[in-house]
Amino acid sequence: MERLDILGTLSQEAGRLTRSYASESMRRANEHVAGWMRAAGMAVRQDNVGNLRGRFEGSRVGGPTLLVGSHLDSVRDAGKYDGPLGVIVAIEVVQRFHDSAKRLPFALELLAFADEEGLRFGSTYLGSAALAGTFDAADLDRIDADGISMRAAMRRFGGDPDRIGGDRWTAARPLGYLEVHIEQGPVLESRGAPVGIVSAIAGQNRYVLTFKGEAGHAGTVPMDRRRDALVAAAQFVLAVETEARTLPGLVATVGQVAVQPGATNVVPGEVTVSLDVRHPGDSERVAAARRLLEGAAYMAKRRNIHLNTRQLSESATVPCSPNLVATLSQAVRELGHPVVELASGAGHDAVAMSALTDVAMLFVRCKGGVSHNPAESVETADVGVAIDVLGRALELLATA
Ligand SMILES: [Zn+2]
Repeated sequence: MERLDILGTLSQEAGRLTRSYASESMRRANEHVAGWMRAAGMAVRQDNVGNLRGRFEGSRVGGPTLLVGSHLDSVRDAGKYDGPLGVIVAIEVVQRFHDSAKRLPFALELLAFADEEGLRFGSTYLGSAALAGTFDAADLDRIDADGISMRAAMRRFGGDPDRIGGDRWTAARPLGYLEVHIEQGPVLESRGAPVGIVSAIAGQNRYVLTFKGEAGHAGTVPMDRRRDALVAAAQFVLAVETEARTLPGLVATVGQVAVQPGATNVVPGEVTVSLDVRHPGDSERVAAARRLLEGAAYMAKRRNIHLNTRQLSESATVPCSPNLVATLSQAVRELGHPVVELASGAGHDAVAMSALTDVAMLFVRCKGGVSHNPAESVETADVGVAIDVLGRALELLATA
């Protein structure tokens, strides 16, 4: 917990925690974490994208490797635990094996990813994508708010952007990737469980919808002659909520609304809204998104509003490995805690890592389900449980 407090002070903004990719605060975070990794018996290096990699050799030379990790970057005005908790818990587990001179039949590679949140360049899973071999070289041309390219930022951080392909995992297929993370939701708290096992990371579809009506004078256009784009969009927003409250497992959000011309005395002529649809089941998510878009078209037509719909992204649900889920569940059960399985509505590095290997995640209960907020909070005892569970899970994998 002291280590998480230390990382919580490493920020590029005074008075709040903001630690973006390849920043000076990230450099200092990497220095601290590298020191803790070395103290736990790991050989440490930083790769080109800026991930910190700590390697703890197993008893068999040339044996397989199990990957464990999370990210060290943050959102703006962040809490201390989203990301760093998974790194610190993993270091503590390795420390225990190191202290007891116990060697596993596989090597552990601990990954502290340089960028998951994408605050600086609007990219997601940058660090884990480089390792999984799905890094898009076009991202190197992205520019931050100060006009610095990702290429330049990476170079300044000590990496070689032209050798990013060298960050890709090329050794034998890893045994899997395990990630500990705060839940960022209220399920574990309501179930009275310190930790939970993630069954799947929900897929998501994102859209932008533009409702085009006709702007007019708020005092002179009669109500029955209006083509008010905002009223149509408002009806759509309510329909999104109704759909998501009706179908179990579905979450759907309109998070952005832009009204044109946006004046008190003008009937709204054009409204653009975003739509984010998530469900752990791919077919349910796709069907729900289709229903919502069909509903929007129907509502718009009835109001004589032109609707334009554009899909921004679609990502499939990532199921966690049944074998790794069973191992984590057994560890939780043996340690006397309730076994709670839950889907993750948020994306994580495990999504990118699933392109490389089997993945699984252990969630840690957090206060009120609050995250991406300085009020983010976890209990010390729950973090202790996460360390015990991860350690036990590794022992179970060693005997499997
Ligand atoms: Zn995170």
